[in-house]
Amino acid sequence: GRDVTEQRRTQDLVVAALEKERTAVERLQAIDEAKNEFVSTVSHELRTPVTSIVGYTELLQDGTLVAPADDQLPLLDSIARNGQRLIVLCNDLLLLSGLDSGEVSWQAEEVDLAGLLEAVQEATAALLVGRDLDVTWQRPPHPVVTLGDGAQLERVMLNLVANAVKFTEDVGVVRVRLETTAGEAVLVVSDTGIGIPIEEQDGLFERFFRSSTAQEQAIQGTGLGLSIVASVVQAHGGSIAVRSAHLEGSTFTVRLPLQA
Ligand code: ADP
Repeated sequence: GRDVTEQRRTQDLVVAALEKERTAVERLQAIDEAKNEFVSTVSHELRTPVTSIVGYTELLQDGTLVAPADDQLPLLDSIARNGQRLIVLCNDLLLLSGLDSGEVSWQAEEVDLAGLLEAVQEATAALLVGRDLDVTWQRPPHPVVTLGDGAQLERVMLNLVANAVKFTEDVGVVRVRLETTAGEAVLVVSDTGIGIPIEEQDGLFERFFRSSTAQEQAIQGTGLGLSIVASVVQAHGGSIAVRSAHLEGSTFTVRLPLQA
């Protein structure tokens, strides 16, 4: 009789402990949802006024309303540039909170990665103006088809290439290569830039990560880009990996399943 009572008491304790754990998990989930909602609302509310500031600044810049004096132009440029940065930041935060809450709706269409890379190459030209970087592009002459969201996948490629350009000194090399192996599309973006110290690489794909080197050299950024890249790649059933050495360079490799 006593054994049975004892057993029941233990069972009750276990049930109570499990119940407590469950409510703790639920509480954390609720907090996480509230955080997402907060980030999303704030980003949204910030974006509207900033967009209007940038819009009016552009009107002043183009001089049709009032012709700005020469010494005012650099100030207007700075307002517009920083406003744009805020808009990008708001958009990134909105996207991330959408990814977290599962609210981002993905397109699932056949996407030609080789075609996307061509568009990325064209877009990259603007980043290279006034720089003496050696950038090479390599891609198969045939379509490389995966299933997914073209706009998001283009963003992945552009982000990696833009980082390679941004974190490489003028006398450097950036190589972009798309190839196919058994059932996979492989995108390799390598540079001879500042690299990432090995002991910092664990946090690389986390939000707001910025390497000590990037901060020391005052290279601007939010540390959101790569976390978005990693989320998008993951959502497409792919993977991303990095090999990097401090002050020597970095190689990012993205693998995505090919459409059969
Ligand atoms: P951002 O470029 O806005 O800072 P990212 O999320 O794209 O944000 O990158 C996060 C950090 O990872 C960068 O600040 C930098 O420290 C490091 N990083 C990313 N790409 C490279 C690269 N190609 N070479 C060196 N460091 C890089």
